[in-house]
Amino acid sequence: MLEPEEFQQIRPILIEEIREIKEFRRSTGSGLHSQVFPTRGLKMYQCLTGTTLESSGQIWEAQLSLYGALCPACSKPFRTPRAHFCAECGYTLPDGEVAGPLERAAIGPANSAGE
Ligand SMILES: [Zn+2]
Repeated sequence: MLEPEEFQQIRPILIEEIREIKEFRRSTGSGLHSQVFPTRGLKMYQCLTGTTLESSGQIWEAQLSLYGALCPACSKPFRTPRAHFCAECGYTLPDGEVAGPLERAAIGPANSAGE
């Protein structure tokens, strides 16, 4: 999982890799299953977290800011910081309360958080 400032370091690389894939596909006429698999973003993610992901798409989903705090009933993260209902166990926060942001401290070291 990435802190916002860490994701901001990787984001330009991911966007550049998407641009490179599109350019390769355009220039070669290859389809969606082209054999181009940029790895700069994945390598940077590994350097930052110590965790190896299989595809660059997983990096977009590994942002702490996308998830809510841990559910008090089941300890899984709420789906978003604005959620008040736990999709995992059905726990509902009191009226007017939302999960709030997921903090790295709640899930342990960078390289052990659900990856
Ligand atoms: Zn729950």
